[in-house]
Amino acid sequence: MKSDYDVIVIGGGSIGLATANELGKRKAKTVVLEKYGFLNQDGSSAGFSRQFRIPYPEEYMVKMALEAHPLWDALEVETGQKLLDTVGTLWFGDPNVHSTEGNIGEAEKSLKSQGVKYQQLTAKQVEDQYFFKNLPSSYTGLFQPDGASIDLAQTLKTLLELNKKHESVTLKEYSGVTAIKYQNNIFHISINGGATFTSAKLVITPGPYINDILKLLGFDINVTYWEMSSAYFKKIKPNIQYPTWFVFQNPDNDNGNQFYGFPGVTWDYPDHIRVAPDFVIRPLTNPNQRTGKPNARELAFTADWVKTHMTGLEPVPAYTSTCLIALSNLKDKELVLDFAPPYIPGHEHIVIYGTGWAAKFIPLLGRIMSQLALDGKTPYDISPFQLGYKYFNKLV
Ligand SMILES: Cc1cc2nc3c(=O)[nH]c(=O)nc-3n(C[C@H](O)[C@H](O)[C@H](O)COP(=O)(O)OP(=O)(O)OC[C@H]3O[C@@H](n4cnc5c(N)ncnc54)[C@H](O)[C@@H]3O)c2cc1C
Repeated sequence: MKSDYDVIVIGGGSIGLATANELGKRKAKTVVLEKYGFLNQDGSSAGFSRQFRIPYPEEYMVKMALEAHPLWDALEVETGQKLLDTVGTLWFGDPNVHSTEGNIGEAEKSLKSQGVKYQQLTAKQVEDQYFFKNLPSSYTGLFQPDGASIDLAQTLKTLLELNKKHESVTLKEYSGVTAIKYQNNIFHISINGGATFTSAKLVITPGPYINDILKLLGFDINVTYWEMSSAYFKKIKPNIQYPTWFVFQNPDNDNGNQFYGFPGVTWDYPDHIRVAPDFVIRPLTNPNQRTGKPNARELAFTADWVKTHMTGLEPVPAYTSTCLIALSNLKDKELVLDFAPPYIPGHEHIVIYGTGWAAKFIPLLGRIMSQLALDGKTPYDISPFQLGYKYFNKLV
């Protein structure tokens, strides 16, 4: 029996659409099954902006960001759409802090060893050049000029339009996957409403709903869920412009004390600056626990930081939002990208993007996932992310 499709992609968020686009370029017969509408706000690609950055404490992450950058350029050139606003990455704070994002000194070492240009900064230089204030003099910083704010909503739209143009790609929204069977080397995927699709390969990219799909195959992944808050502060001084930035500080009880922010951009509440906590006070154990409301205390800690350390902004947020993400229990909460574990029938044909902060890698992950699906391998070194042996659990 021949399958209807070469590849079924489960989940039409940014990574699923990027994968389908690469599969389409290779003329692989592909269907993307999306539970909600495309461009929905229910997954991890909700909202408007994400950070693209090169600094990481791990050299393999720096390499990955360097590999992703030209693919973003190519996507912009191919579509004529501006997707990255290159304003640079500013990292500053307590040099002794090791957070989920890493450590400033370790990132400097990785940048140096990869030959990436950056500038070291004192606390005073951070204040003078980037509009921050009242920073402890012990803080250090670095500025890396290739960092950018990603227009995420436009990226999704662009990928969706590219997929519509591929003859070999079919896009199906409101098609939540409810069952997966593997028989005679073919995957049979059922969606709500009862229709079934068949394929030789499976790409699994359902974002925070990862375990809903993995459990259909008989395993799950150890994850924690963060419903992350964001706040938008109105600019009082229109000429103030921030880069993308992250501050490293030790937690203070419930206050995780790590914050990140964005430049003002036309696509995301113009005349406002987004600043967000990079912590949650209460992680979730199930995506269904999300409230859709930002945590009031996380917002209060963020507003307090803005008031004390930023200039040119109203101290009270004008808008807020939330977004849900599944994160591994890895120290740095980075990517899990792997085939299904060997005890799952057809495992070598099932490619999974499990967890992680991946917006900056969207076009690269699309390419990697498509290569893994079609060729069973990729020339990119994904060994640091092939962590299924550690995080996947067989369900009994
Ligand atoms: C607040 C926040 C800030 C972030 N900041 C950054 C950042 O600065 N830099 C960075 O690189 N990354 C960042 N990230 C991470 C990044 O946004 C995500 O890694 C990326 O958007 C994930 O995309 P995805 O396609 O995997 O998931 P999603 O966008 O969630 O897409 C998954 C899709 O699968 C669908 N789906 C779910 N279940 C089913 C089913 N049963 N059947 C069919 N379809 C299904 C969903 O409806 C959804 O559309 C951030 C994330 C959040 C939440």
